[in-house]
Amino acid sequence: MCGIIGYAGDKPVAPILVKGLSRLEYRGYDSCGFLTVNEKGFHSKKWVGKISNVADKITSSDLPGSIGMAHTRWATHGGVTEANAHPHFDCKNNIAVVHNGIISNYLELKKNLQARGHIFKSETDTEVFAHLLEENYNGNLENAVMEALKSVKGTYAFLAAARNENKLVCARKESPAMLGISNHGIFIGSDISSFLEFTNRAVPLDDGEICVIEKDNYKILDSKTGAEKIKNEIIIDWKPESVEKSGYDHFMLKEICEQPTTIKIAKGIYANEIKTLAGMINDHDTVYLLATGSSMYAAMIAEYWFAEIAHKRVQTIDSSEFSQKGIVNGSTLAIAITQSGETYDTLSAVRFAKEKGARIASIVNTVGSTATRESEINIMLGAGFESAVCATKTFTSQLMVLLRLAIESAKLKNKDVSMLENEIEKIPAVTKEIIDQRETIKQIVENNFTVKNYLYIGRGLNFPTAMEGALKMKEVSYLHAEGMAAGFLKHGTISLIDKEMYTVAFIPKDDRKILSNIEEIKARGGKIIAIAAGGTSHAPVVINVPAVDDLVSPIPFTIASQLIGYYAAVKLGNDVDRPRALAKSVTVE
Ligand code: GLU
Repeated sequence: MCGIIGYAGDKPVAPILVKGLSRLEYRGYDSCGFLTVNEKGFHSKKWVGKISNVADKITSSDLPGSIGMAHTRWATHGGVTEANAHPHFDCKNNIAVVHNGIISNYLELKKNLQARGHIFKSETDTEVFAHLLEENYNGNLENAVMEALKSVKGTYAFLAAARNENKLVCARKESPAMLGISNHGIFIGSDISSFLEFTNRAVPLDDGEICVIEKDNYKILDSKTGAEKIKNEIIIDWKPESVEKSGYDHFMLKEICEQPTTIKIAKGIYANEIKTLAGMINDHDTVYLLATGSSMYAAMIAEYWFAEIAHKRVQTIDSSEFSQKGIVNGSTLAIAITQSGETYDTLSAVRFAKEKGARIASIVNTVGSTATRESEINIMLGAGFESAVCATKTFTSQLMVLLRLAIESAKLKNKDVSMLENEIEKIPAVTKEIIDQRETIKQIVENNFTVKNYLYIGRGLNFPTAMEGALKMKEVSYLHAEGMAAGFLKHGTISLIDKEMYTVAFIPKDDRKILSNIEEIKARGGKIIAIAAGGTSHAPVVINVPAVDDLVSPIPFTIASQLIGYYAAVKLGNDVDRPRALAKSVTVE
């Protein structure tokens, strides 16, 4: 789940690595490390903590040369210490390695390597690879990588350097890696944001490939046979400004405020693919929506949309549970929903479904990501780069695309959906109206979100809206928040209601059954904060959102709860864009 950046070219590498790693910090940020290689050999620096805290200590005199690599870690094996930060070295410091992923057989490999005399300096799984390279190195790094990979099990994007060679070698299996091609050198990064300021030409690497990166050229080889592969470049249309805060205090706020535009884009994008995929959905008896985290809540809302609008049953499964729960065969359609297109659990679910004969589609934000290459049909969200760890604009773009799919599916069955089509036209303006009241929402949060425990409740399609609202609160404020179906409350959780437990309730315009649940809470001394479409007099604290049709209410409700989570975290002084323990794209199991 870490970020990796490497460069070989004609420019000083240190500033490029600092820039690239800063862009990748959303992926992992417990420690960071750098390595450059020139005629004097290796130069390396490592720190515990965020790259932003050490960026000004990194200079070209400490890290000279124009070939190098850097890593921001999200620890899986071994504590957060300088010794465990990457790069890791072999016994003689001739070979250096950075790694994203988990070497699942590292204990066995380590025991064998130690028995053969290797001395380990870290507790990581990664270090075994440096020692394996040492054993297989005969002056050619890519050959050593190919040999060493034969004994490695698990997931990886490795980047390796040898003291006596002017090159980097990358190998990947189930962890992301992407080449960036420019006239001044070749980049290799965990994703395009790492090199977007330098080039928009990219070549995604696939599983089972290794890549040799030199100053003026690169070559991609099959990791088993060594045969060279020719792959096409893709052009990325994200603007470099999309990775800047542009005057906002945090990326999270910037990305919340971008939603009138990103929702508008999602409202019009990929019309043909949406028609095709809607047809495929109608033609398959079993349709799974595979997703986890916020994307899973978007999928759960979509389940209601398909049922209500298109009378079609689709089933959401948490992708980390799919191989236990999914019944898959040749008549299954599996639709992966993943912002990054690299979410490990979702990719595993996709591969599992594919093996059993399912057809695969994806709804993804990141161009060229692995999910897009695993799928027969892709719908891209077009939301631009999302930097904050917490998903905001990509969540509402997922909702918009899923809603359009449900509408298309209904149209193909000759159902009248004109009311909904009119309704979604209003959503960008509705979104702007809520964002324009953000100072009011900030005041409401400052004055009312004063306890440590919250329930978020909704009914029907706002049950998953409530879970997403609670997740936003947990992720960035570290306050306890639990989302649930309002009707479920009386089956247990209501016993928690007291003066120290506040409830955020989502009240749609027409179906107001939730009001009786609100009364039940009030009767037990619980405080209600309502987010109400068109207002309400049933709560002491109310955030008004425009009175849209109930079916589209998850979008405005979500915007309001994003702002609640954001301002609650700001009030507590938390690092909103880089919340503790989280990483944006979860690329480990
Ligand atoms: N498993 C490696 C470690 O714990 C890499 C983790 C990562 O992807 O950041 O150091």
